[in-house]
Amino acid sequence: MVEDQILTRGVREPRLLKTLELVPRHLFVRKAERDYAYDDVPLPIGHGQTISQPYIVALMTDLLKLTGDERVLDVGTGSGYQAAVLACMAGEVHTIEFIPELATRAGQVLSAYPNVICHVGDGSLGWPAASPYMGIIVGAAAPKVPQALLEQLADGGRLVIPIGAPGYQILEEWTRNGKRLDHRSISGVAFVPLRGEHGW
Ligand code: SAH
Repeated sequence: MVEDQILTRGVREPRLLKTLELVPRHLFVRKAERDYAYDDVPLPIGHGQTISQPYIVALMTDLLKLTGDERVLDVGTGSGYQAAVLACMAGEVHTIEFIPELATRAGQVLSAYPNVICHVGDGSLGWPAASPYMGIIVGAAAPKVPQALLEQLADGGRLVIPIGAPGYQILEEWTRNGKRLDHRSISGVAFVPLRGEHGW
């Protein structure tokens, strides 16, 4: 997976590649999907949701440029895989899921990662109690960047989020530099819709 799908597409950060080799992706998918866990595709995880393609997880994590001790927020826990990858790359991970049944299942797998704190609720509002964050990853597509997430970014912190209509979006990276917010477009992507107050 790492050699064929990730390195070839330009993600080269050694700590991230090591993490992707070590996190057992097959434990985050349902039994019926285990044989495909390391394939170059997103997979269904129930409730109409999906675990992202491995490369997309790598790309979004790489964009945060984590060094190891940051506090980060993962919106849309889903399977828990993105949160587990972040757990190996950062100091403390807050992850929030809208669908209680998915949160429960992911919480069980994520119990192996003591620096992950799971929450159930509307992540379009972020998780203000633990803010500010040096990194925020949103694994579902929003109509526009939720103001609440920008407000919860630490100085120098980065937010990576797909923005656009259901079906096709642009992955955007937002960086806080003091009061200034810079953003750039990364690539075209297809995520499930973000729900909640600042979602669809
Ligand atoms: N990062 C996940 C991808 C999950 S798909 C993984 O590694 O598996 C997107 C997830 O976002 C779904 O589980 C969906 O229920 C959740 N979601 C959608 N809107 C949300 C919201 N407003 N707050 C929290 N989670 C949300």
